[in-house]
Amino acid sequence: MLRNSVREFAETEIKPKVQHMDDTNEVPMDVIEKMAKLGFIGIMVPREFGGLGMGNMARVIMLEEIGNVSAAMANTLQCIQLGISPVVTDGTEEQKKKWLPSLVRGEGLSTFASTEPVGGSDVLGMQTTAKREGENYVINGRKCFITNSHLPGVHTVVARTGEGSKGLTVFLVQSDTPGFQPGREESKIGLRGCDTGELIFQNCTVPKENVIGKEGDGLRITLSTISNVGRPGITSAALGIIRSCLTEAVKYSKQRILYGKPISELQAIQWKLTDIHTDYETSRLLTYHAAWLRDKGERCDAENAMAKFWASEAAIRCAQKTIEIFGAHGLMKELAPQRLLRDAELLLAGAGTSEIMRLVIARKTLSMA
Ligand SMILES: Cc1cc2nc3c(=O)[nH]c(=O)nc-3n(C[C@H](O)[C@H](O)[C@H](O)COP(=O)(O)OP(=O)(O)OC[C@H]3O[C@@H](n4cnc5c(N)ncnc54)[C@H](O)[C@@H]3O)c2cc1C
Repeated sequence: MLRNSVREFAETEIKPKVQHMDDTNEVPMDVIEKMAKLGFIGIMVPREFGGLGMGNMARVIMLEEIGNVSAAMANTLQCIQLGISPVVTDGTEEQKKKWLPSLVRGEGLSTFASTEPVGGSDVLGMQTTAKREGENYVINGRKCFITNSHLPGVHTVVARTGEGSKGLTVFLVQSDTPGFQPGREESKIGLRGCDTGELIFQNCTVPKENVIGKEGDGLRITLSTISNVGRPGITSAALGIIRSCLTEAVKYSKQRILYGKPISELQAIQWKLTDIHTDYETSRLLTYHAAWLRDKGERCDAENAMAKFWASEAAIRCAQKTIEIFGAHGLMKELAPQRLLRDAELLLAGAGTSEIMRLVIARKTLSMA
C-alpha cells in the first residue's frame, strides 16, 4: 500500500516538474509541502512526535519510488530525514517535543552538515569550531556541499568543541540565527532541483539546549547517522534510477525498429538489458537486506556500505548502457537517459565515496576468517 501510494504521488505530483527542475535547478517547494502533509518527512519519527512511526524498510521503499521519478527529489527528502534523525536517536525528551512535530510538518526543513572544504572523507579533520561561552556556544566556520543548504529551516551541524575523536559535537542551528548565512549555491551537473551549497557561521550563537547528545558525542552521532540514514537514502535513490533505466531501456528497445524488427531481438541489446536487470535485482536485495537488519536492531554498517557502494556504481553503468541502447536519442536533453546518468554521477560521493565504502566493508571482511 505504501509503495503504491508513493508511486502514485510521484507520478502525479513530481513527474510533471522533472524537466523544469533539471532546466532551472529550482526546488519545487510545493512538492515538499505536500510530502510533509502526507507524512513522508516523518516516516520514521515516532507517532507520539507526529511521525508515521514506520521502519527502515518502509523508508527505502518510499525513497526508491520517489527516486524512480526524480533522484533529485529523493535526495532532498532523504537529507531532510537525515537532519532530523539525530534528534530522534539522541535528543532528550524535551528536545524531541520541541523540535520534532514542527519538523515533521515541514515547518522548517532540515539539513545534516558535516562536510567542509578541507575534505568530506576526513570527518575528524573538520575545522568549524563551537566555543562554550556561558550558557551558549559560538560557532565559526564553513560547511560545503550541504543538501538543502538554502532552504529555510534547522541545520544539524557538527562542529569541533575539543581535540580528537571526542572533540566533535552536534548542534541544531535555526537558519534565522544571527551569525548564520547560506553561502555559495552550487550548480551541479545532476540532481538538479535539489539544493546544494555552503553554510557559513560567523560568531553564530546558539543556546546549550541546542546540543544533541552530549558534548563530545559528535563523531559517534555523525558516523551512525550517515551510515544508517544517509547511505540507505542515497542507495534508494540509486535503486530508483536503475529501475528507471530498466523501464526506459526495455520500452525503447521494443519500439525501435532496425532491419525490419525491434532492436530488442538483437542479442547484443538483450545482454545490455539483462545486465541492467541483474544490477537492479542485486542492488534491491542489498538495499532491502540492510534495511531489514536495521529494523531487527542488528548492526549493519558493512551492509549499508555494501548496498551504497554497489547501487551507486550500478546506477552509473546502467545509465550508460541505457544511453547506448537509445543511440543518439539517449544524449538528447528532452529524453531521460542522459539525466539518469548525470543524476547517478552525483550519488557516488554523497554519504561517502566508494573508497570509503570499501574501508567500511573491509573491517567486516577481515573479521570473517
Ligand atoms: C549530491 C551530494 C550531496 C551531498 N550532501 C551532503 C550533505 O547533505 N551533508 C554533508 O555533510 N555532505 C554532503 N555531501 C558531501 C559528501 O559527503 C562528500 O562529497 C563526501 O564525503 C566526499 O568528500 P569530498 O567530496 O570532500 O572528497 P574527499 O574527501 O576530498 O576525497 C577525495 C578523493 O579521495 C578519496 N579518499 C578519501 N579518503 C580516502 C581513503 N582513506 N582511502 C582511499 N581513498 C580515499 C575519495 O574517495 C575521493 O576519491 C554531498 C555530496 C554530494 C555529491
